[in-house]
Amino acid sequence: MKLKTLTPQAIKNKTVIMRVDYNTPLTHMANGVTKVADATRIDLSIPTIKYLRENNCKIILISHLGRPKNQPDPKLSLEPAARYLQKHHRFPVTFVPETIGQQAETAVAAMKPGGVLLLENVRFDEREKKNHASFAKELAKLADIYINDAFSSAHRSHASTTGIPDYLPAFAGLALQKEVDTLIDLTENPKKPLVVVLGGAKISDKVGAAEKLTALADIVLVGGAVANNFLKAEGLEIHKSFIEDASADLKKQNVNYVTIARELMEAHRTEKMLLNGYIPLPKIIYPIDVIAAPSLDTKKQSQVSIIDLTKDMADTPNDENLLYVDIGPKTVHLYSEIIRQAQTVFWNGPMGVWENPLFEHGSKIIGQEIGKVANSIIGGGDTISCVHHFNLEKHFTYISGAGGATLEFLGGKDLPGLQPLIQR
Ligand code: ADP
Ligand code: MG
Repeated sequence: MKLKTLTPQAIKNKTVIMRVDYNTPLTHMANGVTKVADATRIDLSIPTIKYLRENNCKIILISHLGRPKNQPDPKLSLEPAARYLQKHHRFPVTFVPETIGQQAETAVAAMKPGGVLLLENVRFDEREKKNHASFAKELAKLADIYINDAFSSAHRSHASTTGIPDYLPAFAGLALQKEVDTLIDLTENPKKPLVVVLGGAKISDKVGAAEKLTALADIVLVGGAVANNFLKAEGLEIHKSFIEDASADLKKQNVNYVTIARELMEAHRTEKMLLNGYIPLPKIIYPIDVIAAPSLDTKKQSQVSIIDLTKDMADTPNDENLLYVDIGPKTVHLYSEIIRQAQTVFWNGPMGVWENPLFEHGSKIIGQEIGKVANSIIGGGDTISCVHHFNLEKHFTYISGAGGATLEFLGGKDLPGLQPLIQR
């Protein structure tokens, strides 16, 4: 897949409408002011904005934020993002409190080369999510060319991602380009051994990617609540541990995530990776021990136990109510040793409920180990929060800002937002 990239010829002196992803967490402060709580996604758009400014462009930024109910919702205004850009990147940014209309048109007409304008949340207009042509057309009218720099929204077919390119020449922004290059490199050309680390809670999002990545990987290490599906598939007791319910669609086919986990292990049963060059390991590895507790927010260390899954579990009545909340110490040791043999690691999903200090150990140590690998690519909203929490973000080769889009891309799906950007 080759994308239409930015060249000075394509953009010089042009008015550009650029889709960015400023869907960031916000902090609503007691004094009524709202602030961007995590600017990672805004920062991702900076290289393209700078490049456009160097080429004398007028830049109109558009984005969604949150899930407004198809009408303006002041709590979901993009105004804090504009303030962040002014304050931290010192761009002359003008915020327009509407997405289309007289104010937007006047503001665009008044722009100077190098100027940056941020329009209000595109989802305040119900036509955005319906990908309505009239909305796309009105936005397209404001500019000469369209750039998409929001990989994380590329799995959605909305007016601002797939509609506008019907009316304007479309190009990939630098951040989107980098994301696609990195993910293609991972799937087509990974330096081996490739270790995939899969955790978190939402297995529904990850199944497609897990299947593709398992085929590519030398070994897959599962943790988090995702691992519960694999443990159960192997006939191990998981008590009250969290397992995601299958969608109605899957249920109709008599499938759930435990059966999917079983099939995945079955499909790769004969493949082995040699640890230290001589210890054969199955392709998919699940925890050999776990941390268990009566609840996700257990506060007392005395209520936390280690369960060794390689031993016969003597059932105590208490056990029935236990949840598995982190990978255990032996598993941390095993996974670390495997990760140390990797040339490439892809990590999605924390190893446990890291938000609780009693259950953070697995995610923290595995995160540290992954950070030492030559090529480390991580993704997933909660995985990113987790590595920030442990101050590990600088240790990874690439942090994918996109959750769903990355997983869909790795699962082999065609992302609708990328289609208009492909060189044909
Ligand atoms: P990501 O956003 O990185 O893709 P998910 O959304 O799938 O990850 O899951 C992240 C969440 O999973 C974490 O915030 C964590 O609290 C939760 N989690 C991890 N392990 C467990 C577990 N054993 N039981 C329940 N929840 C878990
Ligand atoms: Mg998540």
